[in-house]
Amino acid sequence: MFEKIVIANRGEIALRVLRACRELGIKTVAVFSEADRDLKHVRLADEAVCIGPAASAQSYLNIPAIISAAEVTDAQAIHPGYGFLSENADFSEKVSQSGFVFIGPKPETIRMMGDKISAKNAMIEAGIPCVPGNGDPLGTDDAVNLRMAKKIGYPVIIKAAGGGGGRGMRVVHTEAALVNSIELTKAEAMSAFGNGTVYMEKFLEDPRHIEFQVMADSHGNAIHLGERDCSMQRRHQKVVEEAPAPGITAEQRKFMGERCARACVEIGYLGAGTFEFLYEKGEFYFIEMNTRVQVEHPVTEMITGFDIVKEQLRIAAGLPLSVTQEQVRFTGHAIECRLNAEDPKTFMPSPGLIDQFHMPGGPGIRCETHIYNGYKVPPYYDSMIGKLIAHGDDRDSAIARMKTALSEMVIDGIKTNIPLQQSIMADSAFAAGSQNIHYLEKKLGIH
Ligand code: ADP
Repeated sequence: MFEKIVIANRGEIALRVLRACRELGIKTVAVFSEADRDLKHVRLADEAVCIGPAASAQSYLNIPAIISAAEVTDAQAIHPGYGFLSENADFSEKVSQSGFVFIGPKPETIRMMGDKISAKNAMIEAGIPCVPGNGDPLGTDDAVNLRMAKKIGYPVIIKAAGGGGGRGMRVVHTEAALVNSIELTKAEAMSAFGNGTVYMEKFLEDPRHIEFQVMADSHGNAIHLGERDCSMQRRHQKVVEEAPAPGITAEQRKFMGERCARACVEIGYLGAGTFEFLYEKGEFYFIEMNTRVQVEHPVTEMITGFDIVKEQLRIAAGLPLSVTQEQVRFTGHAIECRLNAEDPKTFMPSPGLIDQFHMPGGPGIRCETHIYNGYKVPPYYDSMIGKLIAHGDDRDSAIARMKTALSEMVIDGIKTNIPLQQSIMADSAFAAGSQNIHYLEKKLGIH
C-alpha cells in the first residue's frame, strides 16, 4: 500500500479521500488554492501545499503545480477526486510520466471514454446496449444524413463527440430542421470544445437515468455493485440519487451489472467507474462512462457495505479486488440529497459565512460535508457543500429518515437547497418512485 498520496481536489470529496487514507494508514498531502486555506481536509492532512490563486485554472487545474506538490512532499500517488482533472487523460499521463501513480484508469481508457463516438463504439463492441443510431461522425452529405435520420426515426439528437456537462446537443423533431441543426451543433461544438465532430442517435423522450457502479483491478477481475437511479435532475445536474433503482429486478441487475463488469475486463479498465444509461420501456441504452469516483457513490456504499474509495486506493497500489461478485450483497435502500449553497427558488449561488451548523444524526444517516461552524463558502467553485445520505430497510424508511434528517439540519448564514430537498422528499410522485429525468423540472415549472 502507498505511504503517502496527494489529494488533488477540494471540498467534501477531498475529505472523503482523506478519511479513506487514514483508515488505511496512508499519509495525506492536501493541495489547495489561496481561497481554500480553511478547508477542513487542509487542516486535517499531514501536509498541505498551496498550489495557486483562487481561480481553478491556476490551482486545481494547474497540472505542473500539482505534480510539483507530489515531488516536494515525496508522495507516491495522486487521487483526483471528481471534476477538475479527474477525467483529463493528459493529466493522468503526466502523473505517470513523472513517476507517480494516478489513482484511476489508464490515460488511453480516459481518452477513449472522453470521446463519445469512440466510447459508444467500444461499448457496442463489448456488447453493451447503446441508443439506436450510428456510431460514426456525421459527414457533410445532406442526403445521407436525412436518410439516416429517417431510418432512426424522429426525434433524433445531434451530439458533439467532445461534449460534456450536458452541453453540445440538439434535438431535432422534423426533417425540415435536420440539416440546419447539424450545422448549428457542429459550429457550437467547434467553439465550445475545439472539436466540431458530431453524431446522431435516437432521442429518447421520457427515460430514467440509471447507472451501474463497477470496480476493476489490474489482475483481470471486475465486479459490479449494482445500480443507482439519478433521474431527479435539473439542467442535467443530479439533485437526488438512490440505490437500488425502483422497479429494477434482481435479474435485470445481474444481467446488466455482469455485462458492465465483463466490458471492463475487455477494455482493460482499472479502478472505479460508472456506466450511465438511459432506461425507457424496460430497455437500457448506454450514454457515457465516467472514469472516476462519482458524487453519488455513497448510496452504493450504504446498500453494499463496500468502501469504494478505499478500494480505489487498493487497486491503484496493485492489490486484487477485496471481494468477489458472489460476496457483494445488497441490503435495504439508500437515498442521497445533494446540499448546495444556493437560493432554493432561483438557484443563484449563495456563498458566504456559515454561522450555525448542526449535523443531523440517528440510525442510517450519513453526512458527507466539509463545512463547519464559521466556515466561509468561497464564491469561486461549485455550489455543492455536502451530501446527506439516508439508509433504511426499504425505500419508504429511507425517505422517512431523510425527512427527519433534513428537518434537523441547520445551516445558517447562507441560503441552501434544503427546502427544495424537503419538498422532493414530501412529493407523492417521488414517493411512488420511477419518475423520469424530466419530472423535477416539470415540478419546478421549468419546461
Ligand atoms: P454529457 O457528457 O454532456 O453529460 P450525456 O451523453 O451524458 O452528456 O447526456 C447528458 C444528458 O442529455 C442525458 O442525461 C440526457 O438527459 C440527455 N440525452 C443524451 N442523449 C440522449 C438521447 N439519446 N435521448 C434523450 N436524451 C439524451
